[in-house]
Amino acid sequence: MTTMTTEKPREEHAFEADVSRLLHMMVHSVYSDRDVFLRELISNAADACEKLRYEAISRPDLAPDGVKGRILVTLDDARNELTVEDNGIGMSRAELIDALGTIAKSGTRAFMDRVEAAKGDGRAELIGQFGIGFYSAFMVADRVDVTSRAAGQSEAWTWSSDGKGTFSVEPAAADEAPVTGTRIRLHLMEDAKTYTSRWSIERIIREQSGHVPVPIELKEKPDAEAAEVTDGAALWAKPKNEISDDDYKDFYRSVSGQFDEPLLNVHFRAEGMHEYTALAFVPSTQPFDLFDPERHGRMKLYARRVFITDEADLLPRYLRFVRGIVDTSDLPLNISREMIQQSPVFSAIRKGVTGRILSAIERLGETDSDAYAKLWGQFGSVIKEGIYEDYERRAQLLKLSRFASTAALEGGRTLSDYVADIKDGQSEVFYITGTSIEQLKASPHLEGFKAKGIEVLLLTDAVDSFWTTNTRDFEGKAFKSVTQGLADLDKVADAQVPDGEKPTTSSEVEGFIAYLTETLKDHVESVRASSRLTDSAVCLVASDQGPDRQLEKLLQGSGRLKATSKPVLEINPSHALITRLAGLDDGDLRSDAAWLLLDEAMVLDGEKPVNPRAFADRLGRLIDRVLAV
Ligand code: ADP
Ligand code: MG
Repeated sequence: MTTMTTEKPREEHAFEADVSRLLHMMVHSVYSDRDVFLRELISNAADACEKLRYEAISRPDLAPDGVKGRILVTLDDARNELTVEDNGIGMSRAELIDALGTIAKSGTRAFMDRVEAAKGDGRAELIGQFGIGFYSAFMVADRVDVTSRAAGQSEAWTWSSDGKGTFSVEPAAADEAPVTGTRIRLHLMEDAKTYTSRWSIERIIREQSGHVPVPIELKEKPDAEAAEVTDGAALWAKPKNEISDDDYKDFYRSVSGQFDEPLLNVHFRAEGMHEYTALAFVPSTQPFDLFDPERHGRMKLYARRVFITDEADLLPRYLRFVRGIVDTSDLPLNISREMIQQSPVFSAIRKGVTGRILSAIERLGETDSDAYAKLWGQFGSVIKEGIYEDYERRAQLLKLSRFASTAALEGGRTLSDYVADIKDGQSEVFYITGTSIEQLKASPHLEGFKAKGIEVLLLTDAVDSFWTTNTRDFEGKAFKSVTQGLADLDKVADAQVPDGEKPTTSSEVEGFIAYLTETLKDHVESVRASSRLTDSAVCLVASDQGPDRQLEKLLQGSGRLKATSKPVLEINPSHALITRLAGLDDGDLRSDAAWLLLDEAMVLDGEKPVNPRAFADRLGRLIDRVLAV
């Protein structure tokens, strides 16, 4: 322990721009549930206690006061103040500036954009899911003072702000600061007086923080005795029959910081090779950072009730929405966080917990289709990432997956349903990828399939364009895009058209195909007669070897692909427009028509014409011609 004599005087700092934005949103969006500020401060205090307990395993000198965590809430009605104090890890001067002046979480900015874009009720709901953290104190306070001493340091600092753009940091007098830990004092707003009432605070603590793993005490007045409100006992260690649904729900809320109802809970104790307890939940709404590029999970790892980390990837990324804890007696307490991931015990636990959670999800699918539909609606697009990246569990994940298809536009089809209804002679699972069901169901590519009654999966999540590239088959039926390669529909038994009567391509149409090939050669790989079109005249497909067109668009949109490959233009040889154009000998009209056919196919694929200016000119000439007749 060293005493620094070069103490810096009081300093004023500006909040990072994102913090100012967040504070503004917090104060001005009529957020109905202001009580949440307390659960945020208590959760930070508990985190700080757990961090110290962990650090003190290797450095007992850090916790001269002992490692038993304690959170004390003190009310002061006369001064209209509320204080939350902990004996945790504390913050140094630099940590105060960094932790309370910036926003570390990378998903936050994107989330704030969404909140700002949302209107009305949707907005309140979004804010409700948001991990609002320390800054929520400014919903109820017009000044917040944070006095903190980092464990093992002699100096203490006070951070102070009215939440309006700047904060100050200055040295705190030694006798004003906690021995180690942090005291957060809120100068409550006039309309927040209820937070100095013992009854309301007790109720809020029990309700919101009843399962925080550190005991919470309450002082009604600064000079009153402290009384314990919650005991900090670990819920997961209790026998299942002593835990009520409400206990589980409260625990879920305190461990996740989310205030929805869990859709599913998985609580079990593993014995044998490895001993551990897991208590995990599937939320009913998406955590705000679900689509963060980092894709981190938040499962908490404990070793014999000591919190180790929530940064170890206890579950595969595609289960990052699952919240909860794993507590094991098989990991040494003093294992460094860096070593955890390499530990074989950790891998075994990870495997065990992942398996149990997936089977619980599978069982929900078998027993409660409404709840499952909800789960799939929220997290299906994330679970499908696993089809792409978890080769070992691919078959199981395919079974869990639910799809919309031409047989069920609203979704809910399983691949087993698909295979059960498959046509005689059909050896593929057909699919089409795109951005919406509306767009897909109108796609010309589906016409031939519809005519033959062949089901096609309608895939609208970005991830669908990826897993379909590396997943060969489901139960021996190959996945095949209806927009790629030849549509080999002839081998599927056809009720309507007897084999002998298949339309053949006339020599005039053959000639027209040759003409189109020559005219459009810079934009299409080839032109051919289609067997997938019945009503439309044209469509674009990817060449047999080329990548799926939707995937190309996605990669191009994200800048990961420069040029797209040329598509194949398919024309419907029996379409009246095509047969007439084929017989036409007006050269100019023929050329305009060739280009317009390509543009039509582009537009049907949700793209722009090749050259919008030229397109408009050609269309103009055509209308002119019609009017002139
Ligand atoms: P989060 O808890 O999700 O990280 P918060 O806004 O709640 O976000 O807190 C920001 C950071 O401030 C914390 O990560 C922590 O580093 C620091 N902090 C807040 N309260 C405390 C406290 N009581 N003791 C120690 N550090 C704290
Ligand atoms: Mg927090």
